[in-house]
Amino acid sequence: MPIYSHSQLSMYENCPLKYKLRYRDKIKLDIEGVEGFMGLRVHETLKKLYDDIRLTKVDSLTVLLSYYDKIWRQNWHDSILIVKKDLTKKHYHALGKKMIEIYYQRYSPFDSDVTIGTEMSLNFALDIEKRYRMMGYVDRLSRTVDGIYQIRDYKTSAHLSSQEDADNDRQLGLYQIGIQKKWPDIKNINLVWHYLAFDRELTSSRSEQSISKLKEKTIRLIDEMASVEDFPPRESGLCDWCEYQDLCPMRKHFYTVETLPVNEYLKEPGVVLVNKYAELKEKASEIDEQIEKVREAILDYARREQVQVIKGSDRKARVNFIKKLKFPSRIEEERQELDNVILEAGKWMEVSQLDITALTRAIEGSLWDKELIDEVLKYGRIEETSSIYLSRLKDEGK
Ligand code: SF4
Repeated sequence: MPIYSHSQLSMYENCPLKYKLRYRDKIKLDIEGVEGFMGLRVHETLKKLYDDIRLTKVDSLTVLLSYYDKIWRQNWHDSILIVKKDLTKKHYHALGKKMIEIYYQRYSPFDSDVTIGTEMSLNFALDIEKRYRMMGYVDRLSRTVDGIYQIRDYKTSAHLSSQEDADNDRQLGLYQIGIQKKWPDIKNINLVWHYLAFDRELTSSRSEQSISKLKEKTIRLIDEMASVEDFPPRESGLCDWCEYQDLCPMRKHFYTVETLPVNEYLKEPGVVLVNKYAELKEKASEIDEQIEKVREAILDYARREQVQVIKGSDRKARVNFIKKLKFPSRIEEERQELDNVILEAGKWMEVSQLDITALTRAIEGSLWDKELIDEVLKYGRIEETSSIYLSRLKDEGK
């Protein structure tokens, strides 16, 4: 059985295609986001701080910052991606430095707890049979004088999570399972996130019940990841940082045409087709508006003149005013009452039919027992439908 990590699970949830390319197809690319690069250097610097403290040496801030500068220079490479066009390498370097300074000033002289380990590797099972294995790295495990263990995580993101996010966080919850497998006598554990850019610490803890729920939920997710055959791309704000844009059907075309000079770009067949389609759709919607106005005018004319057929030059228009019996729709309040009247009269089967949309939702969302789903699926078939949605590009540059 493969070993999973929290980042694999998150990647699958965020974009199944990216997960497949990275972990199933094992396509490894050098491209690295500058935010991730900076985060790694800050983590390494804080690791050095606590590793040295364990050896009784408290580094000065100057020593730490020059270490940060050194590893930044040593690791920098040409494939580091800076997505935010108004920021440069210098800005990110300075941001990492600021985070280290803030952390240092807040926690110096670093004697409020004892460090048990930094970048501590965990490898543990979620079940007794050891079929569901997880791995991970704890940024720092510490113990206070009161004997409370703290699983600490450094966050270098520009987003400060809420307390609710912390209380529901999967990663440190899983690490708690790993720590308690390693040392079953550890009972008091706090989960601590250091939001370095905000000088904020978030703390949470997990009850036994929430840990067993977390295990169940994670096992279900792993089962899904192991059995699915379809890994669709899922577009999100994270796509700009994705290293697989040239392999992804959502981004491949952008990637291909982005580097073309304007004259070639405008001749590229895909660009030509989309431009033509957009132009025609615009004309069609103008014509639809005009048709609607003329239609309304014909109806007014027919009502006013009390005629049903109106003669044109080489066509005639027949106008029908039809009165239809209507009942409340699903979302209207009286609908429930109406359903009850029919049900109580024992006539439901005469007027109802299977709701195919609700059925598809139940099957695709695995809302029923597997046995029933398999039985129902014998009657299903896959049909391809197609649609084209036009939307405006955020970047109007081209
Ligand atoms: S570009 Fe976006 S949709 Fe495509 S694989 Fe990457 S994250 Fe997924």
